[in-house]
Amino acid sequence: MDDNDLRLDGNAAGGLLNEVFRFEMTAAATTCSGCGAIKPVGELMLYGHGMGIILRCAGCDVALIRITHIRGCYRLDLSGMICLQIDADIQ
Ligand SMILES: [Zn+2]
Repeated sequence: MDDNDLRLDGNAAGGLLNEVFRFEMTAAATTCSGCGAIKPVGELMLYGHGMGIILRCAGCDVALIRITHIRGCYRLDLSGMICLQIDADIQ
């Protein structure tokens, strides 16, 4: 098994994202720190693992969002993202 076997598009991360962000997060726009691409979360590439998810840029593979869920706590690493733009009308 290689990384391609674990990869889905970012829309598949909607369930866990909705646990952390209490609105529809897949439509929020991310700006990649690696290549500057501006894409909705739903267009990122999802890599799942036992404790959480990693959402990577489809263009340059930088990890934009890492979420782990361990012992009742969520830990978010957004260091691969320059900006997260959330439409105020998202519910
Ligand atoms: Zn990128």
